[in-house]
Amino acid sequence: MNLLFDVASCVRATSKFSECTKCVDICPVNTIEIVDNIPAFTPSDCTTCGGCVGSCPTEAFSLSGFSSIEFFFKFLEEESNELVCQKDLYCCLTVLSVEHLMSMAIASEEPVIMDVDACACGGDSDNLQEQLKANIEEANFILSSFCDKEILTKSSQSEFIKKEEEVTASSRRSLFTLKGAIKSKQAFDDAMDADELKEFGIDLSDISKIKNKVIPDKRKLLFSVLKRVEKQASYEIIPTEEISFSSQKFVDDSCTNCQICYRICPTGALSSNMKFSLINFDSMLCVKCHLCHDVCEPNAIQLQPGFEIKEFFEPTQRTLATFDIQRCNECGNYFTYTGGEKECFRCKLEEEEARELHALARKRNK
Ligand code: SF4
Ligand code: SF4
Ligand code: SF4
Repeated sequence: MNLLFDVASCVRATSKFSECTKCVDICPVNTIEIVDNIPAFTPSDCTTCGGCVGSCPTEAFSLSGFSSIEFFFKFLEEESNELVCQKDLYCCLTVLSVEHLMSMAIASEEPVIMDVDACACGGDSDNLQEQLKANIEEANFILSSFCDKEILTKSSQSEFIKKEEEVTASSRRSLFTLKGAIKSKQAFDDAMDADELKEFGIDLSDISKIKNKVIPDKRKLLFSVLKRVEKQASYEIIPTEEISFSSQKFVDDSCTNCQICYRICPTGALSSNMKFSLINFDSMLCVKCHLCHDVCEPNAIQLQPGFEIKEFFEPTQRTLATFDIQRCNECGNYFTYTGGEKECFRCKLEEEEARELHALARKRNK
């Protein structure tokens, strides 16, 4: 196995203002470092544990010969539901993100059991084991808000069996059986091809723009699995800090509609219309890469304190801000009107520069 890196998928390649260090932080042998704003690593130092693969929000890192999606379907077909670090994956279990863990827990008929204590991929630190525990905890916390599925660790298994005996089948919140519904990767691909654009309410006129935006496979997988979970009458709201892979946002009054956030968002979670007169947001497309926050000069993008679980099941596109757009008297281009101005910011700047040059020239000629 080799560690592969697709620089184009890294948010640091998109903007020098990105402060993402998730891959650096997880690496147990400290081989990933930021060089000229882009992650770099020494292949011979890399233990191919896969920690960076699992923690990268945009799937910029991967392992040769390993596909988490292929693994997902293989796992569903296998009889054993127990996963042991290095044994079942040939890398650390942290290669599986919270989205993967949730997808596996929902799709599997039997509880998924992870042997956390057997994880010995820690290198100089216990980074990976701690991350694995945190991922399981997060997945279980979110799952508990809409179903009774959970990821078990070896130590929690006996507790679970006892609990299972106490819970009657009729009192359980119902889930469709997924093993039959998503039994092959082809079915998954077909499902995604068929309704991805529709589901997110994406305007077909924006298709060419959207083609450059990439939704990570792990998000497509989770979304595909969630679509088969029975909807509830109402959903919980969980604290925003409890979810590491998505967010819900608002934009405050300091926004200048500079356009950078929705132009730069890697997945298309933030978007606008042809006139750039609004900012739309799709929570189910957001991978919480933080790039929009990092590039926003007035710091106008804020996280909502609560994350509505309903978004998983009924994704909506919300308009976070609207702007008054007018045509510039000089160049004819649209600009964001804040009151009184007749020219766009660029023309105004050019006019001011020209005025300064004239004043300078007059002074010199005196
Ligand atoms: S975690 Fe991913 S997006 Fe973030 S710096 Fe590393 S490679 Fe880039
Ligand atoms: S939210 Fe920030 S980055 Fe986005 S348009 Fe407004 S000012 Fe620009
Ligand atoms: S909305 Fe912001 S945090 Fe979410 S994917 Fe887009 S740039 Fe990243």
